[in-house]
Amino acid sequence: MSRRVVLATRNAGKIAELRRILADAGLDVELVGADAFAALPDVAETGTTFAANALLKARAVAAYTGLPAIADDSGLCVDALNGMPGILSARWAGVHGDDEANLDLLLAQLAEVPDERRGAHFFCSAAVALPPGPHGHPGEERVVEGQLDGSLVRARRGTGGFGYDPIFLPYGSARTTAELDAAEKDAISHRGQAFRGLVPVLRQLLGA
Ligand code: IMP
Repeated sequence: MSRRVVLATRNAGKIAELRRILADAGLDVELVGADAFAALPDVAETGTTFAANALLKARAVAAYTGLPAIADDSGLCVDALNGMPGILSARWAGVHGDDEANLDLLLAQLAEVPDERRGAHFFCSAAVALPPGPHGHPGEERVVEGQLDGSLVRARRGTGGFGYDPIFLPYGSARTTAELDAAEKDAISHRGQAFRGLVPVLRQLLGA
């Protein structure tokens, strides 16, 4: 019988991407999203690293559901800003998830930065947590990570993707990640790498 595993997100695109990766790897896992649980509490991302925030979410959801849980946390790290926005990527301009305002602010902050110093990378930590055992004994936890290196262009290009994709040019690519189709982006992205890294971890932790 296939093992049920929760991916702690309401983002249908992320669920579909991880489902495809697990199916391609032949893992006998039924992946469900946060929407499968009516009252799943929101988890405050109070960690100071991507890994800490991914673990906080995975641990809380595993404890709540009693199922193995996966959570990811990701963002854009800009060399000229000492790695910021980093874990603040989603709310860089002040309002969580306002992609246009975040882009405008970042472009303005980098206006005087010359081309050779516009390096940046996307980073993703994906955490797996098993539910606590009897007597509250903590379940096993693992984190895998992925990184996509590139640089930032000066004006938006492309309509695909989300967030900072319209200004992110992967090294060796003539197109921004907003100009790649979904399969091309998944093949190289920080999240694609981290999700593919989950396969051997899940195999080992779940025996799936
Ligand atoms: P989350 O961890 O998926 O919630 O992503 C946090 C934030 O990082 C997003 O709101 C985006 O601003 C940024 N981000 C993460 N991954 C990507 C990506 O693949 N493309 C563009 N922006 C991203």
